[in-house]
Amino acid sequence: MPDAPIEAFRQRLRAWLAREAPANGWDCPSAVDEPESDRLARARHCQRLIADAGFAGITWPVEHGGQGLGVAEQLVFDQETAHYNLPLTPLVITLGICGPALLAMGADAQKLRHLRPLLTGDEMWCQLYSEPGAGSDIAGLSTRATRLDDGWLIDGQKVWTSGAANCAFGLLLARSNVDVPKHHGLTMFIVDMALPGIDVRPLRQMNGSSRFNEVFFDGVLLADDAVVGEVDQGWRVATTMLATERVSIGSGSAGRDAHEVSALIAAARRNDAIGTPSVRANLARAYERERIADLLGERVAGQVLAGRKPGPEGSLIKLVGTRRSQLAAQLGVDLHGIAGVAWDSQCSADGQWSKVMLAAPGLSIAGGTTEVQKNIIGERVLGLPREPRVAQPSQPTILAKDL
Ligand SMILES: Cc1cc2nc3c(=O)[nH]c(=O)nc-3n(C[C@H](O)[C@H](O)[C@H](O)COP(=O)(O)OP(=O)(O)OC[C@H]3O[C@@H](n4cnc5c(N)ncnc54)[C@H](O)[C@@H]3O)c2cc1C
Repeated sequence: MPDAPIEAFRQRLRAWLAREAPANGWDCPSAVDEPESDRLARARHCQRLIADAGFAGITWPVEHGGQGLGVAEQLVFDQETAHYNLPLTPLVITLGICGPALLAMGADAQKLRHLRPLLTGDEMWCQLYSEPGAGSDIAGLSTRATRLDDGWLIDGQKVWTSGAANCAFGLLLARSNVDVPKHHGLTMFIVDMALPGIDVRPLRQMNGSSRFNEVFFDGVLLADDAVVGEVDQGWRVATTMLATERVSIGSGSAGRDAHEVSALIAAARRNDAIGTPSVRANLARAYERERIADLLGERVAGQVLAGRKPGPEGSLIKLVGTRRSQLAAQLGVDLHGIAGVAWDSQCSADGQWSKVMLAAPGLSIAGGTTEVQKNIIGERVLGLPREPRVAQPSQPTILAKDL
């Protein structure tokens, strides 16, 4: 027998989606070459509608703008919205990574100030981890946080910071102590991105967009209450965020078009390729990977929502999801012939695939590279011997497997 409150929740959600999806274009594929400002505006508008309808932060406490409901309602939301293209990709870091980290590890005052505007899409957040000299080995980062009498002074540089140019706040991992092993000397800070001394410089990517940024910190002053969790214990916050990020990327919330495989099947029919055995095999493979990533995603989402940290399964999801997206991108270009390599939708409605394909390699790097995920799966899931360590006596090294 279906649980009555859950079923009522599902029906309310279905009715809302049936009304809002056609009105907002969430029932068709999104244009890949949509200008960035329109893309962000659509994401924020969508999240605002979700919040107004009482579906934002389903498991989050009511006092922080959430709904105070359970894991079951969240899974229903994920299942029902998977049939549509909610344009929420630009908010993945805000809602899927920074928000949960603040909820889990932030101080009460931080939660009261930040969680509500984050849930309504009014304030976007970025993740300030990677540096020119620290990526897979994030614990080797060198941005300094120097203790002052009444706060902190930040100096250094971050890179590959997705969305930083449009974010109100960021979570910054910085070195607060150089006298301890490197992963014990990091602190996580909330940074107001409008503070003096912060310089955000967009980087142009090979698909033409500029979603990454370099972020420079030159004598940026932060108050004591900017610290998330404990001083020198930022690694704990960071590892929780990284595990969540992998699940987000792999399960597709970081950019999958819900109509992608069905759009590919339609293209194969249109172009008389549906009978070609290699095309059929690749379509089946893309669909199979999508289902595996979805089912693993549901399993891990259930664990996370039940209060457990995402484990090494996040690496499996990321790996499968990345392969699915890359195969779909290649298929998209192949199936559309000359139109598949057109640059924009002015040339051809199918021109989007060239940009999808040029963005696809980055998925092997974002949120921890494929090699790093394989190390984690090998050691923590399959129980294989550990990677050799290259530690120096005074500075024990955290290898990627510790992420
Ligand atoms: C789309 C995208 C979005 C991103 N968004 C953000 C963001 O918002 N915020 C942020 O802070 N960062 C972000 N990044 C950066 C990303 O986290 C790093 O690029 C990633 O962790 C890899 O670091 P790196 O580029 O320094 O490569 P490196 O760590 O220098 O790696 C170079 C090569 O060495 C391999 N390698 C490294 N260590 C090992 C090992 N132990 N075993 C085997 N092979 C290894 C890697 O697999 C890779 O092939 C983003 C990256 C991408 C592509």
